[in-house]
Amino acid sequence: MRILLTGAAGFLGSHLCDRLLREGHQVVGMDNFITGSPDNLAHLAGHPNFSFIRHDVSNFIFVGGKVDAVMHFASPASPNAASPYGYVNLPIQTMKAGALGTHNTLGLARANQARFLLASTSEIYGDPLEHPQKETYWGHVDPIGQRSVYDEAKRFAEALTMAYHRFHGIDTCIVRIFNTYGPRMRLDDGRAVPNFLKQALNHEPLTVYGDGSQTRSFCYVDDLIDGIYRLLISDIHLPVNIGNPVETSVLELAHTINRLTGNPADLIFKPDLRGESDPQRRQPDIERARTLLNWEPKVSLEDGLHRTVTYFKQRLGLA
Ligand code: NAD
Ligand code: UDP
Repeated sequence: MRILLTGAAGFLGSHLCDRLLREGHQVVGMDNFITGSPDNLAHLAGHPNFSFIRHDVSNFIFVGGKVDAVMHFASPASPNAASPYGYVNLPIQTMKAGALGTHNTLGLARANQARFLLASTSEIYGDPLEHPQKETYWGHVDPIGQRSVYDEAKRFAEALTMAYHRFHGIDTCIVRIFNTYGPRMRLDDGRAVPNFLKQALNHEPLTVYGDGSQTRSFCYVDDLIDGIYRLLISDIHLPVNIGNPVETSVLELAHTINRLTGNPADLIFKPDLRGESDPQRRQPDIERARTLLNWEPKVSLEDGLHRTVTYFKQRLGLA
């Protein structure tokens, strides 16, 4: 296939490029580097099956030649207001990437009669009242809260994707991605794993928001990419959760990272964001992915963190 991948210079996008190229596809990467980096794609320079277009997906997208699949990953993705890359600090760009970007990429898929895959998120479930979250759960989202620029853009994107599927007959699918981590996350991205790893490797105390009892379920990037690839080549149209179902508190995550890195500094507790914006619990129900895609994650949190530590050490000049 010849595949347009938006958000190609980001964390997930760059890993997807690698997987798609390994599978023998041609990839046209697109990105405007608002939160991503050309460094993530540097190793693909000169690859015969890879090309790149620097472009903001909120504007009309032109790609010459036939496209067989469109994968829309372009969007800021970190909720951390303390990071310049957090979507709270890029609110209009985030809404435009989710709304206009989805419209433009769907339009391209329609013009090419291409398969379309939307990168959605567990955030569409908001601060969930159902646990674990199944795809049939409609969510509990504050439409004007801090995270709404991201959550509502993704909810709009899902609705638009289904409209193109139902009304125009486009071959669409939606992946609801749960917290994923790994090499190529920005050091200053602001999400829990990169923040904690950067702090730990600098021998600083880890900043835990609230008492750290809020939970997430962290998936290693290789597992996630495998699930997404299986979804791409399937004929599924319904949303599918992809994530690791092992639920961990933020406090446990922080202690594990301090142990793995030998960080002598402990933890520091920062204001609790729960109620305001920080979901209390999050854990995917992955039965649909297990049954329809024959997929489940294989990498444990400890193994995944080990691999990620190696990358962060290199980035910080410690290895
Ligand atoms: P990232 O910030 O590393 O990557 C996003 C990429 O999109 C960046 O390279 C950025 O420059 C690009 N981008 C943003 N707006 C753009 C625009 N208007 N035009 C062109 N490019 C643009 O984040 P990520 O973690 O790799 O996330 C990728 C996708 O996966 C996002 O859509 C995100 O919502 C989704 N997702 C990620 C996670 C996760 O845990 N990593 C969880 C749920 C959903
Ligand atoms: N978190 C934290 N300290 C940090 C960064 C994040 O305690 O330095 C917490 C955050 O409040 C949330 C969890 O870690 O409860 C996961 O945050 P992340 O930004 O990775 O993604 P989210 O799942 O909230 O979208």
